[in-house]
Amino acid sequence: MGRVDDKVVIITGGARGMGAEHARALVAEGAKVLIGDVLDDEGRALAAEIGPSARYLNLDVTSEDDWTTAVETAIREFGTITALVNNAGIVNGAPIQKFRVDKWRQIIDVNLTGTFLGIRAVTEPLIAAGGGSIINVSSVEGLRGSPWAHGYVASKWAVRGLAKSAALELAPHNVRVNSIHPGLIRTPMTEGLPAGMVKVPMGRQAEPSEVATFIVFLVSDESSYATGAEFVMDGGLSTDVPHN
Ligand code: NAD
Repeated sequence: MGRVDDKVVIITGGARGMGAEHARALVAEGAKVLIGDVLDDEGRALAAEIGPSARYLNLDVTSEDDWTTAVETAIREFGTITALVNNAGIVNGAPIQKFRVDKWRQIIDVNLTGTFLGIRAVTEPLIAAGGGSIINVSSVEGLRGSPWAHGYVASKWAVRGLAKSAALELAPHNVRVNSIHPGLIRTPMTEGLPAGMVKVPMGRQAEPSEVATFIVFLVSDESSYATGAEFVMDGGLSTDVPHN
């Protein structure tokens, strides 16, 4: 018996990094996954690696049409949808006076509007399935601020808030919506960052598998009473009051 045997999960931005690890971990526990991304080569290779419980689809989270196709594909291939991991995200930054509005719009579009469109697209199938789980991937930067990262911080606070408004509205339908808040995780997104850029109390970066374990828990019925909640895995980063 796997922990998520009967679950069908759409994972956005799942071709690499944390999303890819979530796909592997969910299938290892019995789920079926539809991996959506804009990186088609990586996405197809990952689905082939995982096997018949995985499919890959080109899904730009900012496109309403792509979301319609993703929902249709998941239902056609696996019969239902029971969970969504809103994982796709980008990062950018500049000092506030130099932060261009096109860059601001781009990050809000992918990180926030993409998450909203995903929630909206899966709501009806999740209700039809008798319930389900939506996970918004926020960040420690959805709990704290960070200079230069204005669009990222704003978008990650926003998806945290959106998880709560959606959780309240969907609770009567047994659809749970939570946010997760990873700290510094070793993925392509953080590849170029200097080691020791942030002072992590546990003294190290985390591996994607240390986040995937929360995803499996939140998709599974083990988390059946958790909704509108925040799950933090950051090695103590957001707990610290920095001292000189
Ligand atoms: P990553 O860059 O390896 O993966 C992000 C994925 O999102 C990529 O595969 C990318 O192609 C995809 N993507 C980008 N724009 C997209 C779009 N419009 N439509 C569909 N897919 C799109 O980064 P990661 O570190 O694995 O990040 C995963 C999530 O975790 C992101 O939301 C990120 O903000 C968040 N996060 C990362 C860290 C970290 O330290 N790595 C910490 C906290 C939160």
